[in-house]
Amino acid sequence: MSDDKHKARMVSKKAVMDAKIANATEERGVLILLKGNGKGKSSSAFGTMARSVGHGKKCAVIQFIKGRSETGEYKLFRDHDLIDWHVMGHGFTWETQDKQQDISAAKKAWALAETLLQDDRYDMLVFDELSYMFKYEYLDVGPVVAALSKRPKDQNVIITGRTMALELQNIADTISVVQDERHAFRQGVKAQKGIEY
Ligand code: ATP
Ligand code: MG
Repeated sequence: MSDDKHKARMVSKKAVMDAKIANATEERGVLILLKGNGKGKSSSAFGTMARSVGHGKKCAVIQFIKGRSETGEYKLFRDHDLIDWHVMGHGFTWETQDKQQDISAAKKAWALAETLLQDDRYDMLVFDELSYMFKYEYLDVGPVVAALSKRPKDQNVIITGRTMALELQNIADTISVVQDERHAFRQGVKAQKGIEY
């Protein structure tokens, strides 16, 4: 492509982008859903939280399912002044195999989440693996939708999980699907510190 042609293309692209930017004027918190079977949902959520913290914003994490004992992100963030980190689950659901125990952990985690959703001191809340609570019917989605809908105007919420309840998708501002194309695990690579946890 000639330099002139390239320049003309960029000028028209800039005009389109400028118009889009001029159109987006609203300032408010957003609900972000990160779903899909690929690797990268929780790490994206914590990456976005790190971005907020970098700007001095107050954040809280609730892990509805406890994975490995101590993840790198937990070790890095737990003592940060701007972050409250709550691990509420007992372990992988297929490891606990105790439905009543899981339900009571889910209810306890949700009670905390509901409190945070009424607290405008928090700029960002990350509900990691909240979506499984509906899949396994540990929680009703109705009260969750209601609490999200009446949260403080500027509060951002990120929810992760492979599957997402339709009711959450209906009220979300941003939904990203992390697609699984390949994963090292299936080629026999062991879960690694610093990559998986
Ligand atoms: P991450 O925490 O790395 O961002 P994730 O939140 O997208 O991953 P989860 O469904 O929460 O993924 O699964 C958590 C763990 O399972 C991580 O250790 C991740 O590497 C691993 N994992 C994620 N997707 C896959 C997959 N498609 N196959 C095998 N393991 C996976
Ligand atoms: Mg995850």
